[in-house]
Amino acid sequence: MTNKELADLLLPGVDSDISKYEKMYPERNLDEKAVVTRFAPSPTGFVHMGSLFQSFISRKVASDTNGVFFLRVEDTDQKRLVENSVKGIVDDLRNFEIEIDEGMINEEEEKGLYGPYIQSKRKDIYQSYVKYLLEQGKAYPCFCSAEEIEETRLLQEKKKQRIGYYGRFAKCRRLTPEQIKEKVENGETFIIRLKSHGDFEHKIKAHDLIKGALEFPENDLDVVIMKSDGLPTYHFAHLVDDHLMRTTHVIRGDEWLSSLPLHLQLFETFGFKAPKYAHISPIMKEENGIKRKLSKRKDPEAAVSYYHEKGIPVEAVKIYLMTLANTNFEQWYDCNKDKTLADFPFDFKKMSSSGGLFDVEKLLNISKNYISRLKATEVYEGLLHWSEVHDPEFYNVLKDHPEYATKVFNIERDQKKPRKDYSCYSDIKEQTWYMFDELYANHEKEYPFQTISDSKEIAQILSAYMEKYYHEEDSKEEWFEHMKDLAQEFGYAREVKEYKENPDAYKGHIGDISLVLRIVLTTKSMTPDLYDIMTILGKEHIFERYQAWIKGNE
Ligand code: GLU
Repeated sequence: MTNKELADLLLPGVDSDISKYEKMYPERNLDEKAVVTRFAPSPTGFVHMGSLFQSFISRKVASDTNGVFFLRVEDTDQKRLVENSVKGIVDDLRNFEIEIDEGMINEEEEKGLYGPYIQSKRKDIYQSYVKYLLEQGKAYPCFCSAEEIEETRLLQEKKKQRIGYYGRFAKCRRLTPEQIKEKVENGETFIIRLKSHGDFEHKIKAHDLIKGALEFPENDLDVVIMKSDGLPTYHFAHLVDDHLMRTTHVIRGDEWLSSLPLHLQLFETFGFKAPKYAHISPIMKEENGIKRKLSKRKDPEAAVSYYHEKGIPVEAVKIYLMTLANTNFEQWYDCNKDKTLADFPFDFKKMSSSGGLFDVEKLLNISKNYISRLKATEVYEGLLHWSEVHDPEFYNVLKDHPEYATKVFNIERDQKKPRKDYSCYSDIKEQTWYMFDELYANHEKEYPFQTISDSKEIAQILSAYMEKYYHEEDSKEEWFEHMKDLAQEFGYAREVKEYKENPDAYKGHIGDISLVLRIVLTTKSMTPDLYDIMTILGKEHIFERYQAWIKGNE
């Protein structure tokens, strides 16, 4: 029986002419330096931080080189499928503004000429390549049951030998064509294994773009390439897909590093050029002085939904990811304030080979700086967008008062050193609700008075302010002069300095007076500039609040 006859027996009806696929998916017509990368998630749920990080880098490298970044869904493990998860993945990427050039765009549809981009629709292609290998005598069927494999494993463990299907343990490798025929005709199920020619004693050299020069023993395992359901294993699908999709750089988690000798062997077996590999270490987290992997289970920030819920602007998350990705980025960014992420030359060599340390505080700090540099209109837009999903009450208020809200967000913004109040959109309401009537009306109010806490005195100060010292048209300087007059009338120093020089001569100083005006107006002892707040709120609101307080504290 020839190999061809054997292959026909095992995979009847499958066309082993792989040259048609080679023609169908030709070399891409791109610049010599262009990099083709992909994000290849299994559709088991949602994208988490680690895989978002990988796709962020893949997108960046492709963009930097005028290359291509595509999304391939790896659903060959039919047991692990989760419904609608392609949409989940697509949405997660879109929400982080990580655009794909090709690939799945929802459960059913895709774009690009190198598809299908979902593995379950590529069965014919994989089987062609498997059959081709069978015909070459480089693969064989294996009929071992799970129990037999387990027995072998136990034996290997007992004898302290390497675990796996290789050498003398590779029983089915020695089956004769006649034995195979008989088993197939008896309806026995089988899988297909690679007939490895590797020698474990032999070392191969490999190069990883992040980890550098590596040395491994050659792969001598007859690994499974096609499962009994006719779908390929990850290893084989990786070979076929990344070859036919003309991936130049495989950027993936370093849990795959140990499979690299096998993958290189597979490419070599077919005579295909292997892609370059970049194995990214997992993102780490430090807790009580101990470093561990960022965990989906323990760390809320491992889920991408965390960033949306908190309202951390996407660009700020990306800036943070770049600080994790390249150790020289922060310095570059500091020196190139007018530039964007797109201008930064990403370099694999500047990636930590032991894994970046995730630090939420740092991310929030980056986000705070980022928001402080936005225009008020951009804060308004970003917040509107965020609140539409996460805070409908705030959304309605913002939507009804775009100009007013923009003025509020502009307080102390248009200046050389803008105020840094908000780390994320979910911070803003707590810090500005008193500026919006609708929110103010429904908010619980507590007044944290300090030096001046006597209700009578407070009421007198408020009344005097309204009667004598408030003038709607006052410039900031005039207003401040009037505040000093008010302080003086009540026996407080016009300047802090005067008070400090002669504390016994005064009840306090101007700061104590303005604090009262601030607290009654906003319920807060710390706010942005009081003059700005008053100007935006306007006379009617100021007086209303002061009068209401007086009335409520008679
Ligand atoms: N489906 C694999 C995973 O989710 C892909 C790994 C790769 O990028 O090659 O881990």
